[in-house]
Amino acid sequence: MTIADKEPAALPDSADRYEVEPVNAPRLRQPLYAPRKKIFPKRASGTFRKFKWLVMLITLGIYYITPWLRWDRGPFAPDQAVLVDLANRRFFFFFIEIWPQEFYYVAGMLVMAGIGLFLVTSTVGRAWCGYTCPQTVWVDLFLWVERAIEGDRNARMKLEAAPWTADKLVKRVGKHAVWLVIGVLTGGAWIFYFADAPSLLADVVSLQAPFVAYATIALLTATTYTFGGLLREQVCTYMCPWPRIQAAMLDEHSLTVTYNDWRGEPRSRHTKKAIAEGKPVGDCVDCNACVVVCPMGIDIRDGQQLECITCALCIDACDDVMTKLGKEKGLISYATLADYNANMAIATGGGQVIEPARVRDKTTNRFVDALRHTNWRSIVRPRTVVYFVIWAGIGLAMLTILSLRSPLDLNVLHDRNPLYVQLSDGSVRNGYDVKVLNMTPQPREVILSIDGLPGATMTLAGSEAAPTAQLTVELEPDKVLPLRIYVRVDPQTLPSPHLTFRMVAVSTDGSVRAQTEAKFEAPEK
Ligand code: SF4
Ligand code: SF4
Repeated sequence: MTIADKEPAALPDSADRYEVEPVNAPRLRQPLYAPRKKIFPKRASGTFRKFKWLVMLITLGIYYITPWLRWDRGPFAPDQAVLVDLANRRFFFFFIEIWPQEFYYVAGMLVMAGIGLFLVTSTVGRAWCGYTCPQTVWVDLFLWVERAIEGDRNARMKLEAAPWTADKLVKRVGKHAVWLVIGVLTGGAWIFYFADAPSLLADVVSLQAPFVAYATIALLTATTYTFGGLLREQVCTYMCPWPRIQAAMLDEHSLTVTYNDWRGEPRSRHTKKAIAEGKPVGDCVDCNACVVVCPMGIDIRDGQQLECITCALCIDACDDVMTKLGKEKGLISYATLADYNANMAIATGGGQVIEPARVRDKTTNRFVDALRHTNWRSIVRPRTVVYFVIWAGIGLAMLTILSLRSPLDLNVLHDRNPLYVQLSDGSVRNGYDVKVLNMTPQPREVILSIDGLPGATMTLAGSEAAPTAQLTVELEPDKVLPLRIYVRVDPQTLPSPHLTFRMVAVSTDGSVRAQTEAKFEAPEK
């Protein structure tokens, strides 16, 4: 006999006994990791499926083609339209060239991307997840390959359950081989953003490319194959933080994929029989077409779920069923929670039970006018307008700064020790480390001068030339010219021993100019 089998001991009258069971009692414990149920999504067809194909073509096209676009920047700069030139620490984006000190442009673009995501999510829910997220796009591509080789849902399920035969082996090997090729192409396309694509391709093929290129291709091949082919919906449900974050961005006016149970319930598989028996019947015929097309394997009729990526394929599936039944499309549709609640209130009459007779006109069998339908007001509302204004404002500010920026820059660093040197002729000399940046792909001749320090002259360190009021220097294209410059002044002409002046750089053709402030120190009088 175990302790658990023993009769509970009698308690004295003064003690209470509680009938309770710990929440983690062995009897109630669930495994920490539920085994994955494999999903075999059926091919969907319809408006949203077509739209998703289009988005897939555009996004994949942008990804694979962009590194091969050329952009003429002259003989001194790369002609690749989009290039992250790590060796020279430059980012080329068509006509824009960003230097490391201008990284705030990249930060601005990231902020715009973040606000854009807020704008899209608050307007149309997880549209990013459903249409443009790389995980969604590549899973769609991998599923397309799987269907092409193994067939649609039923054929794939049959193949999965079948014993290993030559046919199954050929199909499986073929599918995984194509997936791996896609993975290699994905990793391959990525490295072309970081070097001249045609020459890097030649190097890769002839095994002359640097090791990091092969390592990157291998890593991206592995991640693409694993995430797109093997893990699929598991990435969205368990690995991605976005489904958790999005809840904070949605409100009752955001459009999300919704099962309109105010018109679908009570669902019935035997509609005619139920009607003949005088039972209330909704539009849903419980055919599960919406479930079998779902790439996440869920049932939208269970309400909003974390797993739903709002790909809208269930809308296509259900619209198809409704069309065949001669009913209005939109049993599953993009709808706002506010509209849904209003329609549910009509369908239930404020109670708990949905009565189809409340939403349809008895004589015409059409929906009653009081029902709310989603319209442009769901998109254009104060919250989305504010997001758009912020997003557009940042974009405009960046464009303005970009168009006004000088392609010439000047940095001047005053010596800290010694602050000044008194020369034998009585003049005072200060030393400076000067950097002149030519941010254009052409060579440039620049004149350096001093403004605000009367009588000042300059010499280059190591130069035998006599001090002059101006220095002329040659700048290489897209390069920084470091200079060591001495500025000397007769201290008798100085109004104060601590002065601020401007060092000015002007191109010899006068087209560009840069200036910066610097200190000049002299002994106290
Ligand atoms: S429930 Fe519908 S919208 Fe959501 S993931 Fe499934 S098919 Fe896509
Ligand atoms: S596809 Fe439409 S009719 Fe069929 S089960 Fe889903 S919601 Fe009901």
